Amino acid sequence: MRMPLRLMIDLARHIARKRKAGEKYFPLVLMLEPLHACNLACVGCGRIVEYKDTLWDQMPLEEALGAADEADTPIVSICGGEPLIYKHIVELTKGLIEKRRHVQICTNALLLERFIKHVKPNVYLSFNIHLDGMRETHDRVVARQGVFDHCIKMIKLLKAEGYRVQTNTTVYRETSAEELEEMIKLLTSLGVDGMLVTPGYHYQVLSNDIYLKTDEMPYKFYRVRKLARRHNIINTPIYLDFLLGERDLLCSPWTTVTRNPQGWKGPCYLITNGHYRTFKEMHEATDWEFYRTRQDPRCRHCKLHSGFEGTVALDFGKNLRDTIALVRHYIA
Ligand code: SF4
Repeated sequence: MRMPLRLMIDLARHIARKRKAGEKYFPLVLMLEPLHACNLACVGCGRIVEYKDTLWDQMPLEEALGAADEADTPIVSICGGEPLIYKHIVELTKGLIEKRRHVQICTNALLLERFIKHVKPNVYLSFNIHLDGMRETHDRVVARQGVFDHCIKMIKLLKAEGYRVQTNTTVYRETSAEELEEMIKLLTSLGVDGMLVTPGYHYQVLSNDIYLKTDEMPYKFYRVRKLARRHNIINTPIYLDFLLGERDLLCSPWTTVTRNPQGWKGPCYLITNGHYRTFKEMHEATDWEFYRTRQDPRCRHCKLHSGFEGTVALDFGKNLRDTIALVRHYIA
């Protein structure tokens, strides 16, 4: 299965519970960024630009655990910055697992060996390793030689130790479809449990030209969609159709909320109107219908997976054809 059964059951229960309580705009995933500092400086990383003046701020542990309670999501993705630099990462991970949250640690893998000495495999834990292509491309994106080889070594180690391993690949203009195929086949041979392949995010704070334009996506993602039939690609078939321009989707930015040392970032993972002291304040200050219907000019070229896969999750069961496609996708 591309996603753990327990995670899918918990997600379905969460949606049912929130709907029963009459909530319409509720989150599914918390992107918890306890710090923005990193031990790499990747090309295309919006965080190290947007938060350059506060890079070394670290969230107190109680605040990080409290954010998970406030958001009340079944999935907590610990990202950053590089989360394994965070001084409370072991306590935070264990605390979230105790709260029965599905923890995904999004990491460049450089400090993994140290971390896994302290946190054993758990059904609520998975690693999401950043890998943007084969050796030459990945090392160029992360601006350091040897990182690709280290990631492969860590994937092998994690799998041998019994951890769940996913990868997260950002596709840039220069990434070729052939290289994506080579990488997906390599990761399959290593036993990777799930692969997320998404277009580069055009952060509002970045102005360089490395990101795919909407009309450039179909060629690259046509190959990914074909590969998704035989490989553990996590992107849903509906989202892949959207990337190929074969269907349209509304955005559901409230399904993935972001908390960092500055507060709750709104309205979405990509664009920032402000940071709010509490989840409630952020929620009440945001006109979700405005963003759902992508009226903001900053939404024009956006196909961010968290916003649109959120829509796919919320629409599950509404359309028979899509529902069958999703069930097939997840149990394959
Ligand atoms: S379309 Fe993109 S930028 Fe706009 S709200 Fe959704 S995720 Fe954010």
